[in-house]
Amino acid sequence: MDLLLYNTLTRRKEPFRASHPPRVGLYTCGPTVYNYAHIGNLRTYIFSDVLKRVLAFNGLEVRHVMNITDVGHLTGDRDMGEDKLEQGAQREGKSAWEIAEYYTAAFKRDIARLNVLEPTIWCKATDTIPEQISLIQALERKGYTYRTRDGIYFDTARFEGYTKLSHQNLEALQEGARVEKNPEKRNATDFALWKFSPSGAQRQMEWDSPWGMGFPGWHIECSAMSMKYLGDMLDIHCGGTDHIDVHHTNEIAQSEAATGKKFFNFWMHGAFLIIAGGKKMAKSEDNFLTLDATATRNGVEPLAFRFAAFQTHYRKPMEYSESAIAAAQNGLQHLRNQVRALLDTAAPGDIDNGYQEKFRQAVNNDLNMPQALAVVQEMLKSELPPETKLATMFDFDRVLGLDLEKAGGSETLPDEIQSLADARQRARQEKQWALSDELRDRIQERGYLVQDTPQGMKVFKP
Ligand code: AMP
Ligand code: ZN
Repeated sequence: MDLLLYNTLTRRKEPFRASHPPRVGLYTCGPTVYNYAHIGNLRTYIFSDVLKRVLAFNGLEVRHVMNITDVGHLTGDRDMGEDKLEQGAQREGKSAWEIAEYYTAAFKRDIARLNVLEPTIWCKATDTIPEQISLIQALERKGYTYRTRDGIYFDTARFEGYTKLSHQNLEALQEGARVEKNPEKRNATDFALWKFSPSGAQRQMEWDSPWGMGFPGWHIECSAMSMKYLGDMLDIHCGGTDHIDVHHTNEIAQSEAATGKKFFNFWMHGAFLIIAGGKKMAKSEDNFLTLDATATRNGVEPLAFRFAAFQTHYRKPMEYSESAIAAAQNGLQHLRNQVRALLDTAAPGDIDNGYQEKFRQAVNNDLNMPQALAVVQEMLKSELPPETKLATMFDFDRVLGLDLEKAGGSETLPDEIQSLADARQRARQEKQWALSDELRDRIQERGYLVQDTPQGMKVFKP
């Protein structure tokens, strides 16, 4: 059965064909590590994780590369403004290197708690400066670059097909780019390949180059790293929809100009997480929720957010609300209870081929997770024997990534946790909210979760 994926380049669902089967090269634009990731960012990484797991479910071997943007992403996407890392360093009184290290670790912790599988290769922009410089040199040799007072720029007018990913007309793209004025640019859409360090001021992150001291523009890193680590296995490149018009458009232009070859066959983009009222969650807005804040505020475990993300197809905006996240926690707990009840009566046997195909049909239809979850419930409610249901469920969990094999743990709480839970129950009855919160924290510190539901308090091991 074909795996159909929506390709932003062609604007349709296409059967996926690997360039070097059974191997697949996958590149995911990674985080800019000047702050915590918010759950909008994390939604995008859940999307690419599902993509990767679905490729594996189809028997493909995925070589997955993810970069860490630790330099060169300016506060404006259009090469003006401050470097986000240097800005973060100033804000926190640390060095840019410390900021990058701290938020990279925070990001890795977040994705681990969401069961987002680690890439085969992590790479940092600051570790591939020589590769980025040689790519810029190749562009220079072919006449695609020009120099201004603040850097080396790519001349987008020289690249035919600049709009092939965005499908916008050039005027619209240029209009968008005019927000930040740089009179020395030949075309509004031109972008920096190398930026010079400001004269008189020393940057924390800067390198010598054939053009002088400076740092790479944001887009060049992804071209250099994907070519370095994937070679000619340029199968799928993904990110959020905000990358289409600028970042990915520029990646394609500079890569194809330099090599003369097609740069990635499939381009896939995850839609935004929005908050009530339709506003996009963004690091620059005060509507920013980290995974920790989401979990603590709602008394849910991080994995509930993964489950919540499955309720909306990745190409549709996902609306975040407290009720949606609470419903997801309940849904996840219900699923675990179903598995636990089966494990009480049987051990996993053979997979049911019929349901496996049905599940595959759902996920192979451009990663339709809402449909896949419907197949899960249909299978669990079917007449299949419990050992078959279990094996089939665990097979589905290769894609779902919900740790369902761990659901069989006993439901009785250890004495210490039970007495903390009882004390919290009493505190709540007496409306001692501060004490109740303190007891909740003590329970959670011990690896259990506390959830206040209309039916009362629930304490469980996630
Ligand atoms: P950044 O760390 O800003 O480079 O972004 C990391 C990833 O998150 C990129 O793929 C963005 O496209 C994506 N992203 C940013 N904001 C949102 C949002 N509100 N919802 C979903 N994805 C987002
Ligand atoms: Zn990128």
